[in-house]
Parts: sequence; structure tokens; C-alpha cells
Amino acid sequence: MKRIYVMKKLPLRRDYYAICLFGFIFSVRPLSATELNHELIHAAQQRELLYIPFFIWYVIEWGILFFKYRNWEKAYFHIRFEQEAYHHQSDLEYLKYRKHFGYRRQNKLRS
Ligand SMILES: [Zn+2]
Repeated sequence: MKRIYVMKKLPLRRDYYAICLFGFIFSVRPLSATELNHELIHAAQQRELLYIPFFIWYVIEWGILFFKYRNWEKAYFHIRFEQEAYHHQSDLEYLKYRKHFGYRRQNKLRS
């Protein structure tokens, strides 16, 4: 079952088009297969970290990376969860063979 909700507006910020929260995907427009795959990878990450720890880890890592790069966007793209999602989003079969905690591997992000 896919739990996807298309809404007019997303909370927090306006510069993103989709977000995955607690296994539910919210977006401001229908997602392409690649975009949907990206969010489903986040859903898998969140599930295996039991949701709340995922968000705590995500925010802390973003903060640490911000201090490193002094740039929110650059920090965002270096968050391990985003690196895994961006690296594998085009591989629509990825979730079928993804190993648990796949973000622990050092995925190289295409620049
Ligand atoms: Zn993402």
C-alpha cells in the first residue's frame, strides 16, 4: 500500500516539493517514478530507525554538516540519508535489494 498525499502546501519550508514523514509521503504535485523512489528510500530508512531516531539523527547530522560547510544546501546533500536516496533514486529496483542501514556505506554523490 502506498500512502501518498498530494497537498497544496507542505509545512516548514517552501523550497521542497515532497517530504516523507513516518512512512507517509506528502507532495505538492504528483511525483515522477524517480522522485517517488527517493521518498520511498527515506521511508525505508525511517522504518528501520523506528522513525523518531531517524529525525533526530537527520537534524543533528544536518546541523553538524552545516558547521562544516557553512551552507544549508550543501550540508543537506551530504546528509547520509540524502546521499543514499539521491544515489539510488534512479534505480527503481533498489529497494528490492537494498540492505538494511544502506546509508552506512559511503555512497558517493554525483556532484
Ligand atoms: Zn531526500
